Amino acid sequence: MSDSKSNATFADFGEVIRDHQSFALLSHVRPDGDAIGSVLALGFSLMAAGKTVRMINEDGLPENLAFLEGSSRIEMPPAELIEVEVVIALDTATKPRLGDAALRSVSKAGLWLNIDHHISNPAYGDLNLIDATSPATGQIVYEMIIALGLPLPAESRDAIYVAVSTDTGSFQYPSTTAKTYEMAADLIRRGLDVGTINSSTYDNHPYRRVELMRALLNTLERSADGLVAHWEMTDATRRELELLPEDSEGLIDIIRAIRGVKVAVFFEELPDSKIRVSMRSKDHSVNVCEVAMQFGGGGHALAAGIRMAGPMDEAKGKVLAAISERTSAV
Ligand code: AMP
Ligand code: MN
Ligand code: MN
Repeated sequence: MSDSKSNATFADFGEVIRDHQSFALLSHVRPDGDAIGSVLALGFSLMAAGKTVRMINEDGLPENLAFLEGSSRIEMPPAELIEVEVVIALDTATKPRLGDAALRSVSKAGLWLNIDHHISNPAYGDLNLIDATSPATGQIVYEMIIALGLPLPAESRDAIYVAVSTDTGSFQYPSTTAKTYEMAADLIRRGLDVGTINSSTYDNHPYRRVELMRALLNTLERSADGLVAHWEMTDATRRELELLPEDSEGLIDIIRAIRGVKVAVFFEELPDSKIRVSMRSKDHSVNVCEVAMQFGGGGHALAAGIRMAGPMDEAKGKVLAAISERTSAV
């Protein structure tokens, strides 16, 4: 086994899988398609290989991903401590982003594995598989399943596709490579129904999401130089429209798509009065992960996030100033 903490090989992971029986799979709070998809993909593969698997998320399964076969296996953290040998954290840039209750529930585990594609990941596992060139954790999971000859049941196949599709803006972002399309082609050959799965992922939004879009558009602002566009959501809007956390997922792409805009920012007031900041950069001339890390957040060069202290106007002022320092330099 590699002694380096920085990066292990698929074979190292294969050894751990072979030598252990029970696994708990975790992903980040407010899980997205890649977080849930990666957990389901690896979880169902391990179960098909005869392992005992628990799939836990601090916030449970979001409603918009409930169409995934097998997704009801995702549980909220149980109150009791789970008897488990190995924890595998997926798609989660920092350990605290797994959530307090989830972390507590697996505290008896002796070995920590970490599979992720965030450049900001400090390699908090005993074994780490961090590939920042991968567009989604789901693609790393796919490569590992193939490399180790693990089973790839239908649940895993569909979950991998959704993980990668949602993290690449439907195979559009520059992180999408030939390998990504080859993987998708392989999944289709294995029986994936492209039309149905895309329709379930993208043409199935609740009406309240469009009402949220209307509310956001009323707050849209653009910097004088046209390089930065931002909008915001108050906690009052959340309550009024009875929004779920996943309802805003992907809406930021609307303002990212404005001609001339380099950076798009979404500010969301959370119930605990903290501010969630979501940032997208159109190209590598502005690295939003660096901006996020200035405020304790993280992510990728072109997509990053922060959870920071409010109030809204203060958070906005700080983050927009940090962004404008970078956009004015390019
Ligand atoms: P989002 O804007 O929430 O879609 O997140 C964009 C990317 O940044 C995702 O890959 C997230 O995992 C990552 N990210 C978001 N918020 C945080 C945070 N508070 N700390 C570290 N990474 C984050
Ligand atoms: Mn994610
Ligand atoms: Mn991801």
